[in-house]
Amino acid sequence: MNKFALALAILFCLKVTAQTPENSKEIFNLINQDVLHNTEAYNNLKNATEQIGHRLTGSENGQKAEQYAYDLLQSYGLDEVTFQPFMADSWSRESLRFKIKKGSGDFEEIKAVSLAHSPEKVSLTGDIVDMGSGTEADYLADVEKAKDKIVLAYLGVLPDAKEGTKNLHRSEKTALAIKYGAKGVILYNTVPGGVLLTGTASVTGSLIPIPAICIGLEDGLALKENLVGKDQLTAAIDMTNHAGKITARNVVARIKGDGLPDEKIVIGGHLDSWDLATGAIDNGIGSFAVIDMARTLKKLDVRPKRTIEFVLFMGEEEGLLGSKAYVERAIADKSIDHIKYMLNYDMTNDPKSFQASTEESRALFESIGAEVKSIDTTFKNNFEARAGLHSDHQPFMLEGIPTGGGGDSYLSKDVLNCYHADCDSFDLVDKNGIKNTVRFNAMLAFGLANAGKITAKKLSDEEVKDLMIKNNLEEALRISGDWKW
Ligand SMILES: [Zn+2]
Repeated sequence: MNKFALALAILFCLKVTAQTPENSKEIFNLINQDVLHNTEAYNNLKNATEQIGHRLTGSENGQKAEQYAYDLLQSYGLDEVTFQPFMADSWSRESLRFKIKKGSGDFEEIKAVSLAHSPEKVSLTGDIVDMGSGTEADYLADVEKAKDKIVLAYLGVLPDAKEGTKNLHRSEKTALAIKYGAKGVILYNTVPGGVLLTGTASVTGSLIPIPAICIGLEDGLALKENLVGKDQLTAAIDMTNHAGKITARNVVARIKGDGLPDEKIVIGGHLDSWDLATGAIDNGIGSFAVIDMARTLKKLDVRPKRTIEFVLFMGEEEGLLGSKAYVERAIADKSIDHIKYMLNYDMTNDPKSFQASTEESRALFESIGAEVKSIDTTFKNNFEARAGLHSDHQPFMLEGIPTGGGGDSYLSKDVLNCYHADCDSFDLVDKNGIKNTVRFNAMLAFGLANAGKITAKKLSDEEVKDLMIKNNLEEALRISGDWKW
């Protein structure tokens, strides 16, 4: 055998062994070493937050972020990097002035942010009423109280609420205020230190008929306190927002499968963020981990059986716009049945286990987890079967596609306090945590893409319905208009 033939033979053996599942341990070791020494997730996220700022869908910043992700994936040499444009209704804030007057005193300005899907133009004054925690029980105590008033309500459940009171989403609290005739809603945050929170106040994603704003905890408590006295509190809300069609782009990159290239494992995370801060946590840590999983697997030139598709979704914060567009397109071009799994990374940090939507995934995920654990004993491998809503896996899950991702994810209270808030910035990012997200989940991605057999099947419509009921998701899906049964 000459040298050339020998080299070819070795290459051939490597290629063959790389495909056998028994050898995934060796590949997992390579992934582990590469991520430990070469991960770029943390630095890329740092650069993106410094160079771009927030990544609001449909904004100039949003477009810059799409391009940034595209260029990075191109530079890593992924097999195919494309933009997937989509059009959607979007909302963005413009101006807001919120002022309060006690009795016959002067108006004083209070720091506030508009909640998404508030009307495009509002200029109103009105008396404030305290609706406690803003749950239905608070309104039922006096059904006329909120009529033609501006409602003040806490974003959490107040200590004096009836025992067992279940908290509602800000959009549900707003829906109740509308139902009981309020002309405006002021929600005050649960987080101390004047932290402001944004997000949608609409249960359907359509514009709401009255303005909804968020103010800080201390300001909210002070107003509440004032309402106990005899002085009437008058609020003045002046806001402008923009609502209209926008174009945004998901960024899609592939590692082509060798054996079953038509079968796909989708690895996704939303790249977009809110605009009050740089969204380093929501969802910088998830989306930049996904990009680095792509970097790692491409660099190692592993060829799993199935195609791995990395997708950076836009429009998640305004109502899963990008993932809905992706799924609609996949249904239209009939590629939806090729998707064997969708793994989603949204605010995932330092996950020490895996999770998936159904029990059927347990054996496969646990066996992949066992190999991860043999490489790094800090990996716990406590698989959990659960289904939740409100991130980009949802449109896939509702089509019956098995979904999953990292489990046992950890974020400290300080970080969680900045959720959707003006303090969600890069200093909160856990350097080791994002590295672990990449490390363990690049192994999961490869393990699934290279598995001999995928036991979890695409669920029928009826099976999806049962899964939603079993996970107590029926009510939430009904409220958002996504209950199709
Ligand atoms: Zn998110």
